Amino acid sequence: MGEGEVVYLAWNDYVGVTRCRGVPATDVAKRMEYGLGWAVAGQALTPFDDIAPNPWGPMLEVRQTPVKETETRVDVWDDAPAFHFFLCDSKMPDGSNWDCCTRGFMLKALADFERETGFKFIASFEHEFLLSGAGLPEMTPFSLEAVRMVAPFVKELTHALQQADSGVETVEPEYGSRQFEVSCAPGVGAQAGDRAIITREVIREAARRRGYRASFTPKPMPNAVGNGAHVHFSFLDSQGANAAYDPNGTGGASRVAQHFIAGVVKHMPALCALVAPSPVSYYRLGPHHWSCGYASFGIQNREAAVRICPSPERDPKKKGRAFNMELRAPDGTASPYMVIGGLVRAGLEGIRAQLPLPAALDKDPAELTDAERAALGVVPLPSSLSEALDALEADPVAKAWLPPVMYESYTLVKRKEIEMFSGLDPAEICRRYHDAY
Ligand code: GLU
Ligand code: MG
Repeated sequence: MGEGEVVYLAWNDYVGVTRCRGVPATDVAKRMEYGLGWAVAGQALTPFDDIAPNPWGPMLEVRQTPVKETETRVDVWDDAPAFHFFLCDSKMPDGSNWDCCTRGFMLKALADFERETGFKFIASFEHEFLLSGAGLPEMTPFSLEAVRMVAPFVKELTHALQQADSGVETVEPEYGSRQFEVSCAPGVGAQAGDRAIITREVIREAARRRGYRASFTPKPMPNAVGNGAHVHFSFLDSQGANAAYDPNGTGGASRVAQHFIAGVVKHMPALCALVAPSPVSYYRLGPHHWSCGYASFGIQNREAAVRICPSPERDPKKKGRAFNMELRAPDGTASPYMVIGGLVRAGLEGIRAQLPLPAALDKDPAELTDAERAALGVVPLPSSLSEALDALEADPVAKAWLPPVMYESYTLVKRKEIEMFSGLDPAEICRRYHDAY
């Protein structure tokens, strides 16, 4: 570590922004136990220069306490210092977990899942993002030319993601002009959320170093191609086998996986308030964009909110390994911690109630008639953040996933975002979110 190197203690808040405080690298060992103080009212920050009304005064502080295994140090640029940070747990001064810590929300859900099922939850995010910057031409969808136009960026990004131990698996062009995607191997338990945040920040850094900006906004412009943050997930049993897989189950899903999916579909409207949590999220969510518009389930179906992704493996002995499920609604304005926490909570409700797997749709649910959807119990997802918050309020089970003070403060921040943008031109809203994410 060179002189002048700064290590950032970082945390990802309600609005999915990674905030930080920094210390000289030479001093970081002293900060491992008690971290750094942060006024709790900071949790009421919007992604802009506004703060929402909140239940806290100016006094209370949490300790942003580094989680050792999240240390990330990327040093692949000759002309820039190493990018060095830890992700943190927000703790009360007495060392207990703070009820409003997003990472804590995920950890508690994961612990309950593990205790009740005996399985570990594993997940990975697909990161879609848009590059902007001077000199970037229009690009043809999915083309080799698109990635080669930014070949130095792609190389540095890949190197940086490897150094960050992000489990990078693909780096590729996407459908939109200047839209790219990175996907990573699944992380086990908390690592899934940590890895998603680390990956996103490393993508941002690699773009900055080339003079570009990477934006994870759900919708760069009202009619542009959206950026999703789909989550793939499955379960590991104590032998390391995929407990979500059963060759004899529908679509290859085990009984536990079937209940889990049913719980997610049932609570999907409320879950939107956590996984698609900004006004722009609802320019993206909707039928015909492969993002999803209905609380539905399908096998392979990219218009379903939850889909089964069958394994490509032909060897029956290995087939279980790659089998996974995917939640398509999340986007980059959500904290990955809130996404995993909410997803696991919803799935766990399905397991507890042993809910049956919903019918697998083999077409875009928007193509069904109202009567067909009603018969299948397929309901539309909220069409605005306000509707999503109402759905959360109206679902007492989902509402109770959040400790009362978290529910109150989280919804105050989200209502503040709605108020800030009500009546604004959609293109202007998209522009503001593009610049913030
Ligand atoms: N960009 C789409 C979305 O907003 C997803 C496209 C894909 O399936 O990769 O979710
Ligand atoms: Mg994609």
